Amino acid sequence: MINSFDIDGVIFMDKYDGVYPGKDDIIITGRSTEEQPETEAMLKSKGITNRVYYQQTPFDQKTRESSGHHKGHTLLYLEQTGMRFGIHYEDDPVQAEIIRKIMPHINVVLLQHELVEKENKKHEWNYTRDTEEDTISI
Ligand SMILES: [Mg+2]
Repeated sequence: MINSFDIDGVIFMDKYDGVYPGKDDIIITGRSTEEQPETEAMLKSKGITNRVYYQQTPFDQKTRESSGHHKGHTLLYLEQTGMRFGIHYEDDPVQAEIIRKIMPHINVVLLQHELVEKENKKHEWNYTRDTEEDTISI
């Protein structure tokens, strides 16, 4: 049995260090496929090389609800391929509820905090400093 991890608010905690997945665990993020390069850079800087499942919905169309559906249906799909999950670690109560509805037998553990925004946010990786910088929209 393995566990799955959300990124923002779980693995990625802004200026703090977050939770680390175990060797065989997987990552299911609400980040879209177009956010893959900066996400891989951030994970690499933490030494995290676990498999990541990105959301297919484009960045400007995704919502907390679409992210929740993506996570629940990815868990459902992976379970059908024979994987067994004990816990999904999540920080968004909106998404947690959707995941629990799709996969009621998987424990969704909610990390409760306000350290990272729950709404859509672009991430930009500074490859020179190996840190994340927020995109400033004018
Ligand atoms: Mg999150």
